[in-house]
Amino acid sequence: MEGTLTARDKVGVQDFVLLDAYTSESAFVDNLRKRFSKNLIYTYIGTLLVSVNPYQELGIYTLNQMELYQGVNFFELPPHIYAIADNAYRVMCSELNNHFILISGESGAGKTEASKKILQYFAVTCPMTESLQIARDRLLLSNPVLEAFGNAKTLRNDNSSRFGKYMDIQFDFKGIPVGGHIISYLIEKSRVVYQNQGERNFHIFYQLLEGGEEELLAYLGLERDPQLYKYLSQGQCVKESSINDKNDWKTVSNAFSVIDFTEEDLENLFGIIASVLHLGNIYFKEDDQGCATIPDTHEIKWIAKLLGVHPSVLLDALTHRKIEAKTEEVICPLMLDLSIYARDAMAKAVYERTFTWLVNKINSSLVNKSASSSPDFTRKTVIGLLDIYGFEVFDKNGFEQFCINYCNEKLQQLLIERTLKAEQAEYEVEGIEWEPIQYFNNKIICDLVEERHKGIISILDEECIRPGPATDLSFLEKLEEKVGKHAHFQTRKLAGPKGRQRIGWMEFRLLHYAGEVTYCTKGFLEKNNDLLYRHLKEVLCQSKNSILRECFLAAELKNRRRPPTVGTQFKNSLSSLLEILISKEPWYIRCIKPNDGKEPSKFDDLVIRHQIKYLGLMEHLRVRRAGFAYRRQYEGFLQRYKSLCPDTWPHWHGPPAEGVERLIKYIGYTPEEYKLGKTKIFIRFPRTLFATEDAFEFS
Ligand code: ADP
Ligand code: MG
Repeated sequence: MEGTLTARDKVGVQDFVLLDAYTSESAFVDNLRKRFSKNLIYTYIGTLLVSVNPYQELGIYTLNQMELYQGVNFFELPPHIYAIADNAYRVMCSELNNHFILISGESGAGKTEASKKILQYFAVTCPMTESLQIARDRLLLSNPVLEAFGNAKTLRNDNSSRFGKYMDIQFDFKGIPVGGHIISYLIEKSRVVYQNQGERNFHIFYQLLEGGEEELLAYLGLERDPQLYKYLSQGQCVKESSINDKNDWKTVSNAFSVIDFTEEDLENLFGIIASVLHLGNIYFKEDDQGCATIPDTHEIKWIAKLLGVHPSVLLDALTHRKIEAKTEEVICPLMLDLSIYARDAMAKAVYERTFTWLVNKINSSLVNKSASSSPDFTRKTVIGLLDIYGFEVFDKNGFEQFCINYCNEKLQQLLIERTLKAEQAEYEVEGIEWEPIQYFNNKIICDLVEERHKGIISILDEECIRPGPATDLSFLEKLEEKVGKHAHFQTRKLAGPKGRQRIGWMEFRLLHYAGEVTYCTKGFLEKNNDLLYRHLKEVLCQSKNSILRECFLAAELKNRRRPPTVGTQFKNSLSSLLEILISKEPWYIRCIKPNDGKEPSKFDDLVIRHQIKYLGLMEHLRVRRAGFAYRRQYEGFLQRYKSLCPDTWPHWHGPPAEGVERLIKYIGYTPEEYKLGKTKIFIRFPRTLFATEDAFEFS
């Protein structure tokens, strides 16, 4: 005998909706803890999946498991990420509609692993034809390539994605994956030239040095030792025991060959990567006037060779600046600090655009040519996977955190629109009585950031283009003047005496839906402007390296005028992302990090409570509980279950609503289990439908 403990006491409930004390955060945490201690990392809130990073291999992603979850009803098996993937897939196949799976959580919570698990699930379980295998392999192998160029070791995660990623997996009408498309968001390019203590640059640099063949390194003018490169060694951790750069290099090399990269592409690509390393090692000296000179031209020569530009032109461009006077161009020497700025700006710009090129290149290899010419092309459906940075609060928060947190506000808006609001609207339309749930609508914060002419991004842009000396301080003053009265905005000057102590002179604070974050305005103008001196741009446009020429020339032609600022570009890309998502059926995976030490089996209550709060899990649970887990049109419901009742079997000739009423009376639904709307039956608990489904299966 096992004593008096019930299963519920021991392993918790697999759906938070079944918790008795569903409004209590403690009960929520207890349930999560119970399950985590039994290595049950997944729990549902209805159809939303909560996942806690186990930081260890649990053996739950085997082929057997994949088969187990295929075509099985949601609540028949323990919660699993495969159940989400499988359900999205099956609904897509039967209803021929589009879906997306939004994976959110803070850095290190397991988002990227989750998206990989889903992709693998589709790769293994979906039907496949021989000719489409290559499309599948490319889709799978785009991951290691993008991770090499877009991920890095940070303090929070040894394989932290430093860009946002949205991936469409496209299926034909038979449910065969036929292609894909990737959109990337805001890569953290400042990492190319600087890393904090204990952090690294993007993986690819170390992989190349560790794993690259002798001849390749000789061709690129590189030494094996990463310590020799300034851009790689500032974080003082070029090696990390959990990362095997040499093996990863092999994986990436193999991926390149499958994804259709030519010899020439790779030569150009690694020419650029090597140039960035050479750039970082350029040493500037100050002459008598304080102007920059480059005494040793060793690095310049290598860069010139690899990028196919003239060494003296490059040298000039790094130490001088072209200024357009009224009628002529004046070339003036740069002071030392501006030269360093120019060099770093070049490294960042080159890396960023190469990353974009890489994504485009992968995308063109994912377009399935045979599929796109077939008549069924129009019936293609997609499942989108969104793996994007979660809400970030550090000790010091800058422009990057501002963008990332704004992105999270927008995604929260989407959740509100698609679940909370849509749910209530549907009850209204159907004439279903229910208790409205209070939730905070964060639209007001989105507006504060993005509203045209009035929001923070517009104010920042104005400061960036305004003639005369704008500074990070004048930006802050403009903010105070223009949005100072907003309920979600504070600065030292505006906060009451208590708040004042916690806000610095150069800081402003936003009261986000997920909590308050204090941003330091230092660097906002520069990062938003993202200036690359025209002189350098011209050099890059003339490059014989076809990747660079393509990237820079195309941009020049497109933006004869000033290109949009970084903030505005990000705002625009988010708004098109939201457009992509709003038309699709949503599935949510919320990832939680169990502790800050990347440790297995350690469940840190405080760390977890914080995440439950800002992931909005309690609100979601309340809505789920107050509402109905399932709804189905009367016709559909009747069609499926009519065999369970003699009145409706084999045919029911009256109105479907009445048929359903008789049917559920017969099988014994209690009044609290359901409600009847105008066109649909609403079922409150998953278990009710579950039981009906069982009865049906065994009837
Ligand atoms: P995020 O993308 O949210 O920043 P990752 O997905 O990169 O986080 O996960 C960080 C690390 O946590 C991974 O490198 C892996 O070691 C571990 N991890 C994440 N999810 C799982 C999982 N489901 N099983 C085992 N380990 C995991
Ligand atoms: Mg990630």
